[in-house]
Amino acid sequence: MRPLTDQDIRTSFINCSKGEAKRLGLPKDFADLAWDDLDFLGWRDPGAPERAYLVAERGGRPVGIALRGTSGGAPRGFTARSLCSLCLTTRTGGGVALMTARRTGEAGKQGNTVGRYLCTDLACSLYVRGKKQAAVGGDLDESLTLDEKVARTRANLHAFLDKVAG
Ligand SMILES: [Zn+2]
Repeated sequence: MRPLTDQDIRTSFINCSKGEAKRLGLPKDFADLAWDDLDFLGWRDPGAPERAYLVAERGGRPVGIALRGTSGGAPRGFTARSLCSLCLTTRTGGGVALMTARRTGEAGKQGNTVGRYLCTDLACSLYVRGKKQAAVGGDLDESLTLDEKVARTRANLHAFLDKVAG
């Protein structure tokens, strides 16, 4: 994806208040990110670990989603294997957790959320490219090419964004 500025990120959020977007903590290594390796920018708020964010590009502009994670580890048990709904990496020990995003518009005002199991570090782009290894668990045993995996991750991501905004 194209590199984003602080301002790009803070104005991209569609499901949180302007105040929240203004206060949120940006990733620490934000200036040195390898943007070419990212399908989306995802991170945990350094000042509020139960909060996570992802920013993706849609139609040439950044779209950001604020997420709430479940704190206190894996709700389904430490040894349970969970599958990330974006990159389809399987991980144990809380490496994948349920996160929820408030929906936009009227649905969000009524408290509707969309929940997805996601890599808790939101580094899906790096797992797909083999730039980061899951400590436990790993990829599905499959024979897709990198391009196919990237395309699938993006398709899953766009479906998630549509669900939040739809
Ligand atoms: Zn993932």
